[in-house]
Amino acid sequence: MKVLVPVKRVIDYNVKVRVKADQSGVELANVKMAMNPFDEIAVEQALRLREAGTADEVIAVSIGPAQNQETIRTALAMGADRGIHIEAPHDIEPLAVAKLLKAVVAQENPGIVLVGKQAIDDDCNQTGQMLAALLGWAQGTFASALEIAGDKAKVIREVDGGLEHIEINMPAIVTVDLRLNEPRYASLPNIMKAKKKPLDSLTAGDLGVDIAPRLTIVKVEEPAARAAGIKVGDVQELVSKLKNEAKVI
Ligand code: AMP
Repeated sequence: MKVLVPVKRVIDYNVKVRVKADQSGVELANVKMAMNPFDEIAVEQALRLREAGTADEVIAVSIGPAQNQETIRTALAMGADRGIHIEAPHDIEPLAVAKLLKAVVAQENPGIVLVGKQAIDDDCNQTGQMLAALLGWAQGTFASALEIAGDKAKVIREVDGGLEHIEINMPAIVTVDLRLNEPRYASLPNIMKAKKKPLDSLTAGDLGVDIAPRLTIVKVEEPAARAAGIKVGDVQELVSKLKNEAKVI
């Protein structure tokens, strides 16, 4: 079985994101980029499936500008077997990503696609669900455990207030959550080996997919600055302020 893992290049989670002066988006120039953290978890899970003998090939695919090949190389250094880069603008929308992934699925015929539950830049949490709908495949979202046996997969889903255990038919889309595993680091020898692993490059045109945006970003704003705190003298004053000023009790 092949496992397809879409990996997105996003602003590194340690970077403080700045909005562009014209409010058209966030500043990307000279900003450290990295693989979306949920996608690292997806790559790790794919490698574990291969190591357990459930999968025999792990393919990492990234959609975006030429620099996304670095993100694919990171997945290859973790242990993925080969990569596919699809040239596209950085801000491509989830629906277009899902359509491109559907075309890759048609070419590669994977048994499972392990997608991050959400990209930490757009926080859309849409791509996996859209891909499942376009393919007509089962989906297990927010997975914190995954077990594949024959043509079924058992997924434990992290839902509000608990865990939901479901069984779905394969082939399937599984979107991975934080507690599924702890991704491995790429060792130096593996980083060197990754440079020689196969990486194909395609365009949306090659796959016959229209990636024209369907949404218009009206403007992007910084969150409101937090007001300065105050010190209260005693509990009575605190209760009075919570009651009469903040009006929360
Ligand atoms: P989103 O729906 O944008 O929150 O993204 C959810 C997941 O879809 C990500 O964690 C990735 O696994 C995948 N994905 C989204 N955009 C891309 C992209 N440009 N290239 C590769 N994978 C992507």
